[in-house]
Amino acid sequence: MQHTSPEFVPTPASGEASSPIDNPIDNQERYSRQILFPGIGAAGQARLAEAHVCIVGCGATGAASAALLARAGVGTLTLIDRDFVEPSNLQRQILFDEADALQALPKAEAARRKIAQFNSGIEVRAYVTDLVPGNIAGLTGTSHLILDATDNFETRYLINDFAVQQARPWIYAAAIGAYAATMNILPLPASASDARWEPTSCLACLFSKPPSGPVETCDTSGILSTAVNLAASIQVTEALKFLTGQSALMRRTLLSFDLWTSERSEIATAKPRKGCAVCDHREFSHLSGESRPHITLCGRNSVQIHEHHRPVDFAAMRDRLAPHGRVRFNDLLLRFEREPHTLTLFADGRAIIQGTTDVTVARSLYARFIGS
Ligand SMILES: [Zn+2]
Repeated sequence: MQHTSPEFVPTPASGEASSPIDNPIDNQERYSRQILFPGIGAAGQARLAEAHVCIVGCGATGAASAALLARAGVGTLTLIDRDFVEPSNLQRQILFDEADALQALPKAEAARRKIAQFNSGIEVRAYVTDLVPGNIAGLTGTSHLILDATDNFETRYLINDFAVQQARPWIYAAAIGAYAATMNILPLPASASDARWEPTSCLACLFSKPPSGPVETCDTSGILSTAVNLAASIQVTEALKFLTGQSALMRRTLLSFDLWTSERSEIATAKPRKGCAVCDHREFSHLSGESRPHITLCGRNSVQIHEHHRPVDFAAMRDRLAPHGRVRFNDLLLRFEREPHTLTLFADGRAIIQGTTDVTVARSLYARFIGS
């Protein structure tokens, strides 16, 4: 398979490379307890081995869902994440360790390496990039199912547009504070003769637009690791039903549960809504990139700039930046620290500037040190 994206991290040829042929662990033994579970069985396990799931976001929920799917034996995982590991992630992002945080390793690649240590018999593709309208078709590729593990509604509405357009199922999941929420989206089939499942509401059926104004994030409201793991557990269990051909068993509600108060609520999502702009009128405004900002606040006092797409020569950049502050780089990213800001530059020219929420300041730092 060809991967043309410059952000794709190829599997190295060293000993950590996954190779189903060399894998000394017998799959019958490895998956024996899951095969014993009547809902999966040997036939279900065989289907999981053939399945391909794309996980968008590899933070807390994405890492947990990736770990669960990898251990369950889903044959191919695509992981997409734009961010790098930081010390504040270690409290809940279960695939990462202290060395990852000290190196500021990109999360998708750190997750791929960690999964290879406990299941080398599956294929994991890691993409260090921001999911945008221009790359969503290429990156999600031939996956059967898309799992949302993002931290923003902009990307969720993009996934919803794409999934409805392509009639590809996706599963929303979110966690904040002690609260977890998740919803299965089974889009209308492309044609009636192609119906493989009973369609549900889409995200836009319930909420026609992304929330406006400030949205609570784990950087502002805090988060319990248990809420993350609950969201991931429910999301992955629904995924297992789908991948083993049991979509009729999938929950048809938006479920939310507060682990601290034990309050639970469900909103029915049994059917697509007549008049929904996305699934009824097939208007894909997020997929067409209308009104999509190139500069976004991305929580924890930082701004992401992704309007410049060009390859970056890290060694040359290091020489240029060294007189102005502390510079470190590896194959995947370069970090430039100049009090009170830290600028993290990725190989495609995308940057995250920490230490400000002022877009003007971020843009001027980028222009001054990286180039406009
Ligand atoms: Zn809809």
